[in-house]
Amino acid sequence: MMKPLIGVTSSQDKGDCPDTYFSGKMYSKAVIAAGGIPVILPITDDRELIAELAARIDGLLLIGGVDIDPRLYGEEPHPKLGRIDSQRDYFELELVKLMFEYKKAIFGICRGSQILNIAFGGTLYQDIAGQFKNEIKHTQDGARWYPTHTVEIKGGGTLAQAFPAGKAEVNSYHHQSIKEIAPGFMVAALAPDGVVEALECIEHPHIFGVQWHPEHLWQRDQGIFKLFQYFVAQARPYHK
Ligand code: MN
Repeated sequence: MMKPLIGVTSSQDKGDCPDTYFSGKMYSKAVIAAGGIPVILPITDDRELIAELAARIDGLLLIGGVDIDPRLYGEEPHPKLGRIDSQRDYFELELVKLMFEYKKAIFGICRGSQILNIAFGGTLYQDIAGQFKNEIKHTQDGARWYPTHTVEIKGGGTLAQAFPAGKAEVNSYHHQSIKEIAPGFMVAALAPDGVVEALECIEHPHIFGVQWHPEHLWQRDQGIFKLFQYFVAQARPYHK
């Protein structure tokens, strides 16, 4: 009974499925492969329930999803802003702040990396195609497991450990990205056009996020699987 319990976030109310929580299978499968027990978290704005969840789980995997309300970082909505879910924003931000207080591991994926940045005072480009010198394609078509652009690994932290060659090949499904990095965090990967593709907490390297979708790449890429293994290993000491 040594496996840590990993909270995996969810989306809700997609398309023609109202009253439903969704969490892609590949996120949970990656956690299982890395030695954790995934538990999919329902979205709630009940603060007591959020506190109970943060106390019980040993690590938190923040999955991809809809855009984040720009008012949370002090901006008006850009015309290209996508669908937002203010209840989900609240849930994830509260959870992240509590997990940080406990110093527990957090792995943010895509939207999850953006939530990490917002939770600690950073900002986003609401639409990189319209707001950033965007020289490569970040919204790929076709197979999710197929890497379409490279990233340069920065800093000497968690990502540098996983990718000793200083480079990674990643998939890309995002129209937003980190603008100003949150205080206390560092840029851990950059796309060739300068888009921020990963961040890490400087003081607590087991709090990190990537802009790509590693849950579709870990079976084919050792470095990307190492990120899940590291995350689960960092959650393990909290398991009682
Ligand atoms: Mn990208």
